Amino acid sequence: MTTDYLLKKLPIREHGRNIVKIIKYVQKMDRCYFPGMAVSLLLKTAVPYGELLLTAYILDGIRAHAAIREMLVVIVSSVFGIMLLQFLSGAVYHRMEVRREQMYYLYECETQTKMLEMDFSRIDSPKVKELKDRIRKDNNWGAGINGVFWSCNDIMENVFQLTGAAVVGFPVAAFLFRSKTAAVWLLMAALAAVQVISVFLRMRFGRQRDHWRYHEAESAQEKEETFCFAWDFAGQGSYNYKNGKDIRIYEGYDLMERWTTEVLRHKGFRDPMIKASQNDAGEAFFGAAAGAAANGGAYLIVVMIALAGTITVGNVVRFAGAFGHFLEAAAGVVHGVPTLAMAARQQLSTLALIHMENEMYRGKLPVEKRSDGVYRIEFRNVSFRYPGTERYALKNLSMELTVGEKLAIVGMNGSGKTTMIKLLCRLYDPQEGEILLNGVDIRKFKQEEYSRLFSVVFQDFTLYPFPLAQNIAVSCDYDSKAAEKCLRDADFGDRLASMERGLETYLYKDYDDEGIEISGGEAQKIAIARAIYKEAPFIVLDEPTAALDPLAEYEIYSNFDKIAGTKTAVYISHRLSSCRFCDKIAVFHEGRLSQLGSHEELVADKNGKYYELWHAQAQYYADDESR
Ligand code: ADP
Repeated sequence: MTTDYLLKKLPIREHGRNIVKIIKYVQKMDRCYFPGMAVSLLLKTAVPYGELLLTAYILDGIRAHAAIREMLVVIVSSVFGIMLLQFLSGAVYHRMEVRREQMYYLYECETQTKMLEMDFSRIDSPKVKELKDRIRKDNNWGAGINGVFWSCNDIMENVFQLTGAAVVGFPVAAFLFRSKTAAVWLLMAALAAVQVISVFLRMRFGRQRDHWRYHEAESAQEKEETFCFAWDFAGQGSYNYKNGKDIRIYEGYDLMERWTTEVLRHKGFRDPMIKASQNDAGEAFFGAAAGAAANGGAYLIVVMIALAGTITVGNVVRFAGAFGHFLEAAAGVVHGVPTLAMAARQQLSTLALIHMENEMYRGKLPVEKRSDGVYRIEFRNVSFRYPGTERYALKNLSMELTVGEKLAIVGMNGSGKTTMIKLLCRLYDPQEGEILLNGVDIRKFKQEEYSRLFSVVFQDFTLYPFPLAQNIAVSCDYDSKAAEKCLRDADFGDRLASMERGLETYLYKDYDDEGIEISGGEAQKIAIARAIYKEAPFIVLDEPTAALDPLAEYEIYSNFDKIAGTKTAVYISHRLSSCRFCDKIAVFHEGRLSQLGSHEELVADKNGKYYELWHAQAQYYADDESR
């Protein structure tokens, strides 16, 4: 999808609505910004007009031999007045600039917070993916939310300029009007016409530039399958030292080049960008030319009037200054409005994301806090497809998790084991069937209370580049003793003892040069410690030992009963031998529960999937040992 949706014509009313929408949003973030900026710009605009009036006053005073004392008083007080204006305008402006920066980051944070609060099931839905893509493109091409601030400020400044020029120039213009000098009026009309033509040309060049930049360049990239947005990868990926290993070993430089910098040299991308910059230059030229024509024309007018002897020198200065500014500012307003409309349009995608409603039903029922930990879960005829897919990842699943039991789930890759856990934690809702907690549909419970029942170590768990203790507590506040105990229970005790800063040690070196690098197995132990620390009645380990060596795995397994205590534990593993200690083993196959029973029961069923898997693995281990 290219960004040419930004080029489609919209009715003016819709542009107006977009502008109001984004300005209202900005006002909600900071009510003071625009009023403050208006004050600063008003003061700023008053300065050159004050100077202009002062110059005119001095020139006319000299000519009329005014009292020097009186003139000095006016000059000194005016200079102080102008200095004060300048100081106030600068002071307010800098305060507002700080607020703008803060808003810029706040706005960024709001999108990030939204992504964290969004239904998990929507994060990778086609709709959200498309929206994220659009946001990235809108912000890549525009100046993001800053585009809205800058174009609004530009318009405000031009409106103040226009008003200042009218106030300063009006008495002279009224005088000229009375003088009825036809040539002068003709010249003024001609200059106004030049401005209109220039605005028209600037807009035309601007549209052409956008066409080349938004439409042609992107279509060419998509056609050639080179995406400028692989820049994101270049930006983040190349700095990530974990990516560096594969690139070096497989000499993946060409691949990286193709997806990143090659696009800059590609004709399909380069030529439209050249055209875009030519049009940019055209737009700038006509802006500057119109400004020069307005200023030059203004002097021409006053010279003509002065030659006729009907105007004072002071008024020459006053009119020349005001008239040029008036025309330039009027053109600035006319040109600024479409710029603001585009900037507002580029924020629609972000606002759409921020205002996106969650779809999952949010129940209000509190989860009963039971000291005996009697929480019984039942899957009743549950079927589930991932958003945007046709295939069922789980089909007609019915099973119970009995309190305090240790359940193992085994099966081949893709058989639906992790999906079952995601449904259990209500990261997704099933399309058919229901999941019950103590007989009540889990959708009816408050999600945050329901989530507290589960500690899960997912296969793709994440550790943060923060201190170890914060990784365990997933919070800035933590109980050191409890964190240490959990780490020891997860067989991380020796490593912890060897760390000089103990729980305060940063993981990785992202934020601390003394941070530690950890192995895959160590990372898994930390993730397991985190799960134990939560003290939830259900503990789920989704292949947590895949990166552990057999000895370490054995330690974790033999400790597992102790770790889980009276909790209900669900244990997913591809190593069947590790699951023997569980009370019950569920065998998943192609999204269905194909067998359920103890190891002895299952291994005795020669026609069952478990028997097949067990013997395949026993063979593997036997071969391994004989080597
Ligand atoms: P297992 O844990 O048994 O290896 P999963 O539960 O992860 O299997 O996956 C079951 C099926 O669902 C697989 O076919 C997998 O490709 C698919 N699947 C898993 N996650 C997603 C997802 N986020 N979107 C679409 N399909 C998915």
